[in-house]
Amino acid sequence: MSIKTDLLHTEQVHQKLWGSYPHTAATHVSPIYQTTTFILDDFDSAVYLNQHVDEGFVYSRFGGPSSDELERKMAHLEHAEAALALASGLGAISTAVLSVLKAGDHVVFSDVIYGCSFTLFAKVLTKFGVTYTRVDTSKAENVEKAIQPNTTLVYVETPANPTLKISDIEEIAKICKAHEGITLIVDSTFASPYLQNPLDLGADMVVHSATKYLCGHGTATAGIICGRKELIDRCRMPYMQCFGAVLGPFEAWLVMQGMKTLAVRMEATCANAMKVAKYLEKHPKIDRVYYPGLESHPSHEIAKKQMHGGFGGMMSVDIKGGMDAVRTVMNNVKVLSLATSLGNVDSLIQHSPSMSHFDMSPEERHAAEIFDGQVRISIGIEDADDIIADLEQALALI
Ligand SMILES: *Cc1c(COP(=O)(O)O)cnc(C)c1O
Repeated sequence: MSIKTDLLHTEQVHQKLWGSYPHTAATHVSPIYQTTTFILDDFDSAVYLNQHVDEGFVYSRFGGPSSDELERKMAHLEHAEAALALASGLGAISTAVLSVLKAGDHVVFSDVIYGCSFTLFAKVLTKFGVTYTRVDTSKAENVEKAIQPNTTLVYVETPANPTLKISDIEEIAKICKAHEGITLIVDSTFASPYLQNPLDLGADMVVHSATKYLCGHGTATAGIICGRKELIDRCRMPYMQCFGAVLGPFEAWLVMQGMKTLAVRMEATCANAMKVAKYLEKHPKIDRVYYPGLESHPSHEIAKKQMHGGFGGMMSVDIKGGMDAVRTVMNNVKVLSLATSLGNVDSLIQHSPSMSHFDMSPEERHAAEIFDGQVRISIGIEDADDIIADLEQALALI
């Protein structure tokens, strides 16, 4: 064989040609399968696998070993039959939502959800003849009232971004099940599978931005859908196959590395957030703290019932003095970083009305209690006293 040919062969082909397989190590950390295509055993299995892509690996746009490992891990953690990894949280959300909806359908969704999820429903899907009603899903009866004969999807985010509104998944699932043909999707990004399992409470699919707590270090953009196998298979084929929001092998590997410490990160972040929320609640320059762990939170009891003993690391805060006060605080924090995103090991602060939720009209924002003087804080795993001292000195400058 010419060196020109030898240079191209992978280990599997070497095995086929020479009958000896080079030593493979039993790796402690999974390898990254950085390949776009997979060598198939023979003609018949190639034909079969191309038509049953959930049963093996064919081409990276249908899935690969690295995303498969992440999917199995997530399905296990969410008590699901199956999972599908995608290139971002929005990749997961749009794939899951499109797998349910057709022209003429109606969606009921929470009045407070992640900004780009709102844009998907309000600005993209309306182009394709999908109508919607936004309701305060923290009162489950509002979902019942909004359901129309053509409602096929109820979409809830809990805890919601950015105001930490809590919706009762079990109650909403009961309402959805009482009507035929309604799928309930829950965005559980803020809780992660460590703090909440929406499928156990009756949801049909749970979606996560794995960019956040699952990865935990701000190093990869990723998303995941978990649910019954028939629903996940449909998300993969034809929706992921056609829209192509596929998770790369390296990103899948980074998310899995991050997930190893999810439990300890979540414990630390919940404990820190509780301390910071209690401190801010008493601060004279703060109007209101939105944190589901506080007894003052209107849905504290529901959060206690459906979350596993912790309330997460996210909070929003109304600062007295509006936008000018916000500018002073955000320009002067030193431990917290002025950055969007969330769920990282280090603390971040952002201004929701002008950053993550700028696409809503001022009226829509105010109706959703996203006020101009509001900052969203993602609490990290630093020492809580350092976070508090940092906020103290920045608030003193107002
Ligand atoms: C960030 C976020 C998303 C979007 O995730 P990406 O990975 O940025 O696409 C969706 N839902 C919630 C609640 C989020 O915080």
